[in-house]
Amino acid sequence: MAIDFNELCYLKDPDIDALKSDYEQFLLSLYAPTIIDVSGKDQQRTRVITTLIHGNEPSGLIATHRYLTNLKASERPTTNLRFIICSIEAASATPNFSHRYLADGLDLNRCFGNSTETSGYYHRANLIDKAIRQVNPELVVDLHNTSGFSPAFAVSIMKNEMALSLTAVFCHSLVLSQIRLGALMEQDFGCEAITIECGGSKDSQSHEVAYLGLLKLANIDDLSQQHLQNNVTTYLNPMRLQVNGDIELNYAQHDLGLPGVTLCEHIEQHNFGQIFPEQMLGWLDNNGLENLRLLDANGVNVVDKYFQLRGNQLLPKTSIHLFMATRNERIARNDCLFYLVTHDNQLA
Ligand SMILES: [Zn+2]
Repeated sequence: MAIDFNELCYLKDPDIDALKSDYEQFLLSLYAPTIIDVSGKDQQRTRVITTLIHGNEPSGLIATHRYLTNLKASERPTTNLRFIICSIEAASATPNFSHRYLADGLDLNRCFGNSTETSGYYHRANLIDKAIRQVNPELVVDLHNTSGFSPAFAVSIMKNEMALSLTAVFCHSLVLSQIRLGALMEQDFGCEAITIECGGSKDSQSHEVAYLGLLKLANIDDLSQQHLQNNVTTYLNPMRLQVNGDIELNYAQHDLGLPGVTLCEHIEQHNFGQIFPEQMLGWLDNNGLENLRLLDANGVNVVDKYFQLRGNQLLPKTSIHLFMATRNERIARNDCLFYLVTHDNQLA
């Protein structure tokens, strides 16, 4: 069925009938991006929570549904809350929560802030952008899951007190990113907009991270001091390691002599761990590092500066932290193998 990109659905203070018996039934009852407004004690302020921009990242929806079904009529959040459930079609494509975006669609989180493209998914991104601005929010939190197994972390383009505090509401790590991809959190809504990567989509701990953070967002009046109670480690200038062109990408336990790039099968276990220069991450064919690119903030390929070969083994040249490593080959190929930050850029 063709998607009508003009459609948005609205729910206000939904009751248990509208919310259905569980989050999957609730998802299946929706047919377009859905805005859910919840009235707070202070009607002059609104906090925005967006989620399910990626259809295979359910923690935000699960937490939202749990919060709404547990909210008693006599209890109100501190401020108004506006939830936006974004990619209904991708999330409900069979099997549920398995498509980041539809095979013939675009990654919605690459379609924000584009002044030249205005149709289809770009139009949808614009509608979501407008729905956020409409309520003049005091903060925007965009809930995601990591592609692979990972601890939770936050991503912001700015380092300010609210970025640190919103990070502390959900987790302990904040990545400050200069990368511009057309993501929702890169837009200037006149307030802090932060992405929370709640951890892997199949890890129930991720759903708990999203829910417990959401409870704080709903119930704490002054969120600006949260970082004083929960230490936050900051990482700067992440870079994305990508395979060049249509070079073959595999995952294996041992060197199988495959063409292109082969990453260690357990690459996800390194997420947010420190990798030392002698630690092997995978194997390359005869083309060596030419299979890969790592662009710095100026768009210069610096793969030689951060990686080296021992025989055909791929090793970092310096201590690095990596995150968003995934074994999902489609995501690794279309997005990146992983993001990395060097140890020098890690602030205490
Ligand atoms: Zn995502």
